[in-house]
Amino acid sequence: MHSLSYDRPRRRMVEEQLITAGIQDERVLQAMSIVPRHLFVDAALRAHAYQDSSLPIGEGQTISQPYMVAKMSELLLLQGHERVLEIGTGCGYQTAVLSRLCKRVYSIERIESLHEKARSNLRRAQHANVMLKCGDGLLGWEEYAPFDAVIVTAGGFASDIWLEQLKVGGILLMPEGDEKKHQLVRRLKLQDGIEETYFDACTFVPLLEGELRR
Ligand code: SAM
Repeated sequence: MHSLSYDRPRRRMVEEQLITAGIQDERVLQAMSIVPRHLFVDAALRAHAYQDSSLPIGEGQTISQPYMVAKMSELLLLQGHERVLEIGTGCGYQTAVLSRLCKRVYSIERIESLHEKARSNLRRAQHANVMLKCGDGLLGWEEYAPFDAVIVTAGGFASDIWLEQLKVGGILLMPEGDEKKHQLVRRLKLQDGIEETYFDACTFVPLLEGELRR
């Protein structure tokens, strides 16, 4: 039996799924050893919260596998002073991890019920430096631009608006590609162009246009 704090499974997740798979950023490992992933999944799935897989969060969407959350967090190269735009709040778990790595996270979710779920999850896990919005993330968040980084947690193709809302020297990270074949790509915005680097192949739920309210 696990204690209610799930400390032991969380420690094992960090050691066996993250460190073993090559995650090295100490701040990312520290954040993932603290954020209570079990509070971001439905009660019926709590016992599976720390397993090496994505899990359903409702509305046909998923909370990403712990390794993918860690890898994407690491690739943002955050130091603590940044303002980060996240597209695809989902249940808010990646948001919570990011909030421990930067100054403020601005996160947009297109499905209203998930946006509400993330709000209550993040409140329960006591994350204060997070702003949430229900809307179409393809439009970015003009009001708070420019950002130091943009992270997209659904698969598809980049919106030009994200690069426009990024500072020079900022990073846009996303799973890029058609259908279920994606690859993580990091774009660094330079004064006079973009520097692109490709990383892991992966599969994400799709990036979709418009918002879904009900
Ligand atoms: N990082 C999330 C977590 O920790 O739970 C998982 C995100 S899930 C893989 C991707 C999310 O992106 C879904 O909740 C989906 O509804 C959302 N999404 C897809 N297209 C979007 C868009 N245009 N704007 C905002 N959210 C979008």
